[in-house]
Parts: sequence; C-alpha cells; structure tokens
Amino acid sequence: MAGRVSRRGMLGLGAAAAGLGVASLAGRASASTPTFTPLPADARPRPVPAEGYILDRIGDAMYAVTAGGNQSAFVVTKAGVVLIDAPPSLATALPAAIKRVTAKPVTHIIYSHSHADHIANAKAFGDVVRVSHVDTAATVKANRDPNRPMPTTTFTDRRVLHVGGHAFELSYPGPNHEAGNIIVNVPRERAAVMVDVVLPGWSPFKAWGTADSVPGVLRAHDVLSRLDIDTFVGGHVHRLGTPADIRTSRDFTYDLWDTTNRVVGQTRLADFTAQVEPGNNWAAFQLYYDAIATRAEAEIRQRWLGKLAGVDVFTRDNIITIAVSLLLDAPKDIS
Ligand SMILES: [Zn+2]
Repeated sequence: MAGRVSRRGMLGLGAAAAGLGVASLAGRASASTPTFTPLPADARPRPVPAEGYILDRIGDAMYAVTAGGNQSAFVVTKAGVVLIDAPPSLATALPAAIKRVTAKPVTHIIYSHSHADHIANAKAFGDVVRVSHVDTAATVKANRDPNRPMPTTTFTDRRVLHVGGHAFELSYPGPNHEAGNIIVNVPRERAAVMVDVVLPGWSPFKAWGTADSVPGVLRAHDVLSRLDIDTFVGGHVHRLGTPADIRTSRDFTYDLWDTTNRVVGQTRLADFTAQVEPGNNWAAFQLYYDAIATRAEAEIRQRWLGKLAGVDVFTRDNIITIAVSLLLDAPKDIS
C-alpha cells in the first residue's frame, strides 16, 4: 500500500518536473503530495501474471499467494489443504491458486491473528477445522464478524498440528502486533509464517499496525531470528523473505528502540511544560514527543534510508509510539 503511494508521489513529481504544460495541476500536486524516497530494488512490486496474483512455491508442498500487497500461504498435505489465513483481498486469488495445484479440499485454516485483513474470508471455506491462539478466539468473539467464524480449536503456548504427513508447529511468543499473533513453522518445507511483524524489505507499518505490545514486536523478532528456516512469509507487501530479511528487520527495530530510548533520556519534559499553559499536560507532551521524534528520526534516516522501504514514511510515528511504550510498558528486558 505504502509502495503505491510512494510511486504515485514519484510520478506526480516526475510530471511536474518534466513541465508538461499543466502548470496549475502539477503545481497543486507538488504542493499537496509529499515526495517519498524511491523504493529499494528488493522492495519493489514484482510483475503480476495475467491471473492477477503471484503464486510462489515453497519447498515441496507449500505455496504463498501475493496480490496487491497482501499475502497468505497454504500447504497441500496428503489429507487436504491447510490454509494459513484467508484474506478478503485474496477471496478470488486464493481458491484459484489452490485449484491450480491440487484437487484436494481445504480441511483446515490456521488463523495467524484476528485482524480482518487476514482472516475475514474464512467463512467462505465452509465447515473446516479452524485453529488459533486462545487470545485470537477471544478477539474474534468480541468483534462479532460473521465472516470471521470462531476457531474450532485453540492453544495457549505451543501446539503441533499433524495433518496428512505435515507437522505445523504453532507457537506464541507473547503479545506482539496483536495479542494472539502466532508463529507457524512448517519444518518439512523449512518455512515459517508470522504476519505483520517482519515485512521483507520494508520498515514497519504505522505503529506496527496498532501493535498491542511494541516490546512484544521486538521479542517476536528475537524468536523469528532463531528459527532454522529458508523461507519466511510475512503477510504483506511484495515478496517472500529469508532469514537475512528477519535479521535486517530486527536490526532496524532495535535501532529504532535504542535510538528513541537514548533521545528520551536526553530530553526533559519540564522544558516543554514551561512553554504551554500551566496544566495543559497534553500540549507539553506533544511538544516533547515532537522534539524526540525530530532528533531520533534524523539519525535513523541517516543509517537506514535506501536499505529498507518506507523509512521516510512511518519512522517518525513509530518513534513516538516507542517513546510512549518506554513510558507505559517500561520493559526491563530490552536494552
Ligand atoms: Zn494485523
């Protein structure tokens, strides 16, 4: 999504710079559309075949389907097809992709987490086994969305699901992007899926997609970086990932955390309290967080611009999210 915005920004700028004789239009576009850094080569969209989605094969029997910046995966076992998520944006692509590689029916859906953009087409797959973390079941129940039917079975810390010769190692690293967001490891295909935490080639989405726990996002990176895998599926943007992508995302996220932590330590809230009406605490915090973001963002841009996509888009917001997390979550296990 951010990639498209960025490309549009570049196109708008290109038209203005080329002086195409639409001065008023170009002027308006350049005044209202921020200029974004071009995407690094390995973050750009891949060509999409005529069928409208990209089907990647992972190992022998696992596949990922990618379209429009969204991604899910499935495994063809001897007993049937196991889906990992059912995104509404892939409502046509996913069944079509499955049909291309097997005549077997879908027998299971593993919910990565409760968010609608990943599982709100689950109902379309009918009466199948649905597996999730117990916290995901609670959120699904609370949100009362008929397109996200309740899981039929849940787990708390770990569960190994055996289906038709494949083991699916489900594990929970604690609250992260969302409470209940799990890791699905498929050892036979040397691949793992964790959604909305590592986005291969990209810096994090705004506030890690309303992360329930920012420290938990860092801890999830630690767990992912210890997996013995070749392929990683992150649930968004344009391609599959590798252990190197997990390491890079971990390095970036820790750098963001550490830099923000250091700048917070060098910034005094009292300096800003003195600049606003006495008692307007929100205004003081706003100035304080703005000052922290300006200083920390300059450092992060210097080190990371051009290495990961979107560093110039959400980094400022993500610094402020970390600054609030440092105040409220105040984790003692992260440097
Ligand atoms: Zn999500």
